[in-house]
Formats: sequence, C-alpha cells, structure tokens
Amino acid sequence: MVECPECYSSNNKATPLRNKESCLKEHTQYICGTCGRCICIEPDSKRNVRRWNFPFKSLEMAKLYLRTADYTEQNSCGVYQIVDESGRKSYKIFPTSEDFISYLKRTGKHSLTKDALFQREEYIIFPKLK
Ligand SMILES: [Zn+2]
Ligand SMILES: [Zn+2]
Repeated sequence: MVECPECYSSNNKATPLRNKESCLKEHTQYICGTCGRCICIEPDSKRNVRRWNFPFKSLEMAKLYLRTADYTEQNSCGVYQIVDESGRKSYKIFPTSEDFISYLKRTGKHSLTKDALFQREEYIIFPKLK
C-alpha cells in the first residue's frame, strides 16, 4: 500500500499503539482527512504533553504519530535518533532541529546523526474528513 500523504502511514488502522480501545474511546484523536486513520492527540492534563512527545522504539512508530506533532505545532516536525548511555537507540519527534540539539545537551544523550531521519519539507494543511 502507498504511504498516506497526510499521515505518513500505509495502514489506516495502525494506531493507537497501546490500550487501543480505551484510547479510541476516551482520548481526542486526530482523524486523518485523507485515509481516516485515528492518531491519539490527547494532551496530558498536567504537562500538556501528547503521545508524540515521548520516545519511540522505531522510526516507523514515530512516523505513525508525526502528523499529530505537525498539526499541534503547525510546522513540519522531524523524527530524530537518540542514543542513550548504554547505546540504546530511540526515536523522538522535535518541532525544530534546535529543540533536538538542546534536548541532547540537557539530557547528555547523543545521536549518530544531526539531521532528521524523516521530515516533510513544509507544513501542509489538509481538509478535514467530511
Ligand atoms: Zn490515547
Ligand atoms: Zn492518512
């Protein structure tokens, strides 16, 4: 299947990753206007963070949530690689490369690449699903 131009997934049933039923029932979802895929965009009540703010195990998983980051920030966000002290890799979405660099400084983590592994060139507004 072809990757959706709006939400970067080829499977329109691909999220939520965890607690699927309660997430779909209780959390606000970004519904892709192109393929109908639901992506959790519920803000945490205390810190106003969403699922896309957390690290992912793979680039593919991060990509599943990238559109909710783009939409929240109204900006084309990027997926970056992070390597922790034990050499374990994870993938995290940042609004800008400056945010990524300051995160590395703040946490003492590093990365094998300074560039986003995946990022759309510019933010695109898509019409809502009717
Ligand atoms: Zn959720
Ligand atoms: Zn889609």
